Amino acid sequence: MGGNHDLPSLPGYKGEALKILREAEAQAGDLIRIFKDGTSYEGVLMPRSEYGDERHIVIKIRSGYNIGVRVTADTRVEKVGAGAKVTFKPPPPPKQRPNLPRVSILSTGGTIASRVDYRTGAVRPAISAEDLYSIVPELSDIAVIETEVIFSLFSEDLTPKHWTRIAETVAKRIGEGVDGVVITHGTDTMAYTAAALSFALQDLPVPVVLVGAQRSEDRPSSDAALNLIGAVSAAAEAPFAEVVVAMHETVSDNAVAFHRGTKVRKCHTSRRDAFKSVNVNPLARLADGQLTMLTEDYRKRDHDRELTLKPNFDERVALIKFYPGMNPRLIDLYVDLGYRGLILEGTGLGHVGRKCFPSIRKAVERGLIVAMASQCIWGRVNMNVYTNGRDLLALGVIPLGDMLAETALVKLMWALGETDDPEEAKALLRTNMAGEVSARSIYI
Ligand code: GLU
Repeated sequence: MGGNHDLPSLPGYKGEALKILREAEAQAGDLIRIFKDGTSYEGVLMPRSEYGDERHIVIKIRSGYNIGVRVTADTRVEKVGAGAKVTFKPPPPPKQRPNLPRVSILSTGGTIASRVDYRTGAVRPAISAEDLYSIVPELSDIAVIETEVIFSLFSEDLTPKHWTRIAETVAKRIGEGVDGVVITHGTDTMAYTAAALSFALQDLPVPVVLVGAQRSEDRPSSDAALNLIGAVSAAAEAPFAEVVVAMHETVSDNAVAFHRGTKVRKCHTSRRDAFKSVNVNPLARLADGQLTMLTEDYRKRDHDRELTLKPNFDERVALIKFYPGMNPRLIDLYVDLGYRGLILEGTGLGHVGRKCFPSIRKAVERGLIVAMASQCIWGRVNMNVYTNGRDLLALGVIPLGDMLAETALVKLMWALGETDDPEEAKALLRTNMAGEVSARSIYI
């Protein structure tokens, strides 16, 4: 892929506003003049949100402010000048140096694969892994890069079926002998995908590195280039063979942290160092071209190890966050919908209100697996301390130690995708498969 990517001409416009703009043959990005009530307004035609109303035209006026002009019967629009057509042409890819390690970059979408249209302010997923490679030519000094677009989606639109596709593609590339795999991904649900791949790709011989960006790569403040360089370096040379997330270690542009796929969480909406390892140290960091392991406890790279692919997930698992006053019938609803597992995100050490107990009992009796993670994020559940915890254990709720609630959700989906036997699935849930439970939680 690569090359030019055209945008729709009047995004978000409908009804009256769309009609009058079409008549004027205007497109988003064009300079237009709107005449109304004896006044005229001139500016660049902006795209609108698809939830915008049908009556307003939004333009960016010379001062830089956006204004909305309501379309009335006597409103007229004239196109003053065409905006330059929005296209993106990456520079030619850099020359490969054949003796370097082989790294496969798979793109799935997200901000790291987006560009800002500066005339209109819209951010769109528009560039492929190959384009990224062209934009960050330093990558050619680190590895011989092969690129592939798996799909191009914002990560909130991904489902477990996408995790399966990613896992299968990674397995294929590893089977072809690459030294590591990088997956570019939207940051919003990157931690879920990281957990999913950690369970789906067992006995990894080489690293699998998920990478994203909080700001698209064409913005001056972008974190994309450093993250990508870090990710490719780790895929090419890191001593570990695990699924990790590579993102800025701090807000400064000088170090990348590698977080274990089952222990990582997006903890900030916009900072570059949004990703944190929870209850453990990051696996490794890269600064000044030097990769340093931060723990001794990791699976070592070994090309001869045979990957085991277990890519199935059962979507009939829910993550239920308990809150004061929660209606227990919400639990019944999942049972009635035929769900096979529930992860409760309980309070503190692992509690839900007693009002929920009859519904939990019913769920367990109907054969659902019910397990407990904490909504505290840091620390671990301990359901032996208070009566409510002990009673929940007696009902058959499985305590999950310091497993993140999101990881627990993914793991139970995976366990039930692996086996139809609930007892076997429970045994998988209780076994530490990919570092999702730590022996003790460190206080960071
Ligand atoms: N919400 C989008 C996503 O997760 C964009 C955010 C990002 O990539 O950082 O794909």
